[in-house]
Amino acid sequence: MIKKILIANRGEIAVRIMRTCREMGIHSVAVYSEADQTARHVVYADEAYLLGPAPANESYLVIDKIIEIAKKSGADAIHPGYGFLAENPIFAQRVEENGLIFIGPKPKTIALLGDKMAARQIMEKANVPIVPGMKEPISSTQEALQFAQEVGFPILLKAAAGGGGKGMRVVRQESEIEEMFLRAQSEAQSAFGDKRIYLEKYLEKPRHIEIQILADRYGNVIHLGERECSIQRRHQKVIEESPSPIVDEALRNKMGQTAVTAAKASGYVNAGTVEFLLDQDNNFYFLEVNTRLQVEHPVTELITGLDLVREQILIAAGEKLSLGQEDIQFHGHAIECRIYAEDPDNEFMPSVGTIFNYREPGGPGVRVDSGFSRGDTVPIYYDPIIAKLITWGQNRDQAISRMKRALDEYVIHGIQTIIPFHRRLFELKDFVTGNLSTHFIQEHFDQSNELERFSEEELQALAALVCAVDYSEKKRASGFISQKPIQNWKMIQRYCQLINR
Ligand code: ADP
Repeated sequence: MIKKILIANRGEIAVRIMRTCREMGIHSVAVYSEADQTARHVVYADEAYLLGPAPANESYLVIDKIIEIAKKSGADAIHPGYGFLAENPIFAQRVEENGLIFIGPKPKTIALLGDKMAARQIMEKANVPIVPGMKEPISSTQEALQFAQEVGFPILLKAAAGGGGKGMRVVRQESEIEEMFLRAQSEAQSAFGDKRIYLEKYLEKPRHIEIQILADRYGNVIHLGERECSIQRRHQKVIEESPSPIVDEALRNKMGQTAVTAAKASGYVNAGTVEFLLDQDNNFYFLEVNTRLQVEHPVTELITGLDLVREQILIAAGEKLSLGQEDIQFHGHAIECRIYAEDPDNEFMPSVGTIFNYREPGGPGVRVDSGFSRGDTVPIYYDPIIAKLITWGQNRDQAISRMKRALDEYVIHGIQTIIPFHRRLFELKDFVTGNLSTHFIQEHFDQSNELERFSEEELQALAALVCAVDYSEKKRASGFISQKPIQNWKMIQRYCQLINR
């Protein structure tokens, strides 16, 4: 039996996990940084402990401290949420070594599937179709050129240790190979400490379709259908839905069965997601397995009626899956919008500050998973997601109408959010008719992003320049805070994100 869980995370996902704990009569333990002293997850938890200063590497990423707090508080288990330490096999290992339960897969499964090339090798052996490409890293641009000559341009350079769209570069012609290879390599090195790069054929306008799976430790594996996550910005999901407008029952069964095969081939236990790309002829290819709870899990919850966190906890406690594949029924349609504190009219710059007015939407078919309320401050240190807005309808049209209404009802004052962008997107005919691809945003919005055209060295020089301007302006302003330094600070933050600092 699990009686007390430490949630090694913050924001909306920490609150979401604690809600299930409360329903199950399990005590929740929050950890927090100095920037989050009054955050909603701290207030919601049954107990809360300070980890350290605001930067994540001094707080939410400090393994020893988190384990020490878990033991001190008498927790039996740790839930990592997503991000931070969720896919860190060393963390999972340390949790287990200290006699605690890690709510997720085994450390060795996390390590295996965290290496994209190793995962591709396992899947190929299990006859799971993989995106055409290599299973070994490349060491020279010559190899990349050879690959491109075999499969044709465009090709995609990918970091073996990749995640969050980092270390990924599309190469459309021979003249770009050298530069893109060096960029991908240095981005991979600074983001993951692992510069291995491999190649995939770059599929034109695919759809991102992923399958949610549940697996217990007795070899039972089921799937909970698909989520379509094709609406992406810079390879990062922005809107997700289930079911996919393009997936019919036959394709769902086929992809679902393939995902179950993929889970079994890797010895997977707990909740996981098998990601695929679907091409324009409805062929699907394995992309990767995410070994954790996904940001977008609520859309699956709304159409299956299941609580995925509850399932995770029961599996981690050693229980058998209580449901077979035949018990899984899908009802209606669900869509999720990620609510980021970003300014859509200013290159999606992170927008930090205090939320002085906040009102969440409600009414039929509306769910809000959020980590903030009125008076809270959105810190600069972490991912800028503040909430997830999910709507359910008997069909896609109703889910869309409800989303439009809910977006209009959502009041967040004091910071900029991505909500105006969502509003525009839900008016587009191609979205309404379900004509989606991973290039949707690029094709429907002006994506002229000057920053992406700079090399890393140029970005570093720019960041230094902005720092200097900021410093001199602050000096000149001698004490009063003008708009300008704030804008500059956002620019620096955005540059830093781009150069992985
Ligand atoms: P990460 O682990 O960094 O998130 P993924 O491998 O999951 O990277 O891919 C993220 C997104 O990048 C996909 O959803 C898709 O939009 C795009 N992508 C990845 N591989 C390919 C490919 N071979 N062809 C076309 N698009 C791709």
